Amino acid sequence: MTADQPHILLLAGTFEARVLAKKLQERFRAVRQTASFAGAVKDLPDLGVPTRIGGFGGIEGLRQYLQTEKVSLIIDATHPFAAQMSWNAFHAAEREDVAILRLERPAWQQAPNDLWNPVASMDNAADAIPDGARAFLAVGRKEIATFYRRGDIIGTARMIEPPPVPLPDHWSLVLARPPQSAEEEVELFKERGITHVVTKNSGGTRAYAKIEAARQMQLPVIIVDRPELPSTDTAATVNDVLDWTDKSLNT
Ligand code: NAP
Repeated sequence: MTADQPHILLLAGTFEARVLAKKLQERFRAVRQTASFAGAVKDLPDLGVPTRIGGFGGIEGLRQYLQTEKVSLIIDATHPFAAQMSWNAFHAAEREDVAILRLERPAWQQAPNDLWNPVASMDNAADAIPDGARAFLAVGRKEIATFYRRGDIIGTARMIEPPPVPLPDHWSLVLARPPQSAEEEVELFKERGITHVVTKNSGGTRAYAKIEAARQMQLPVIIVDRPELPSTDTAATVNDVLDWTDKSLNT
């Protein structure tokens, strides 16, 4: 493969990126592909393509990478709350004149009997939890420390790997990967006496069960709105990304 051949950079770290990596290989077997992980969690899946791990070093670091590795297409399949990476990719792609598409799962929408309290940030979510609540915190290991100032609540925090700073002593940690079923979530919420659910509006199906469980139990959900993302072209499904890739490689 020569340096002038196309090279797809897949910004990964989501379930959709895993599915996409497999399909990209099936459909564009002859095209060079590289997947990229932040390295935030230790147990990374094997995407079956050459993989690099760790930050690029901001916009300038990514520009350098795009040049050195002669990247011709970027597919940003990061999580909707990984806004820094999406902004960096947007600016670097623009400056290096590299085509870019973001795979963006639609946000969850409130159903008529959902008791949602939408908030703009993790900090606002921490403020919105009533005194003495028993809160289920599904906010990720990077964000959980924002809630530690709420020593008056009893938190049950669920994440994939333990947080960098341990939880307050009277809280509990549940280590688990999605997906869970709504039945499992109901059982967990009952067992822990949960009164409030706190979550990001991640969208997609794999983390939705907690929203269904909260609806069934009529629990209030403090839901953090998505951060502002760049005006990159987006696709909502893996198939749409494949079609875009096809077109981009042939123009
Ligand atoms: P972030 O705040 O947007 O990014 C922070 C920095 O991490 C970026 O500036 C970049 O460092 C590096 N980075 C992020 N994603 C990267 C990737 N795919 N490849 C290489 N470097 C990457 O991101 P985050 O919220 O920490 O998320 C990190 C990873 O976890 C992402 O892959 C994301 O898809 C995944 N994830 C995040 C969430 C969430 O709720 N935030 C949930 C599930 C999965 P440099 O500036 O040095 O390039």
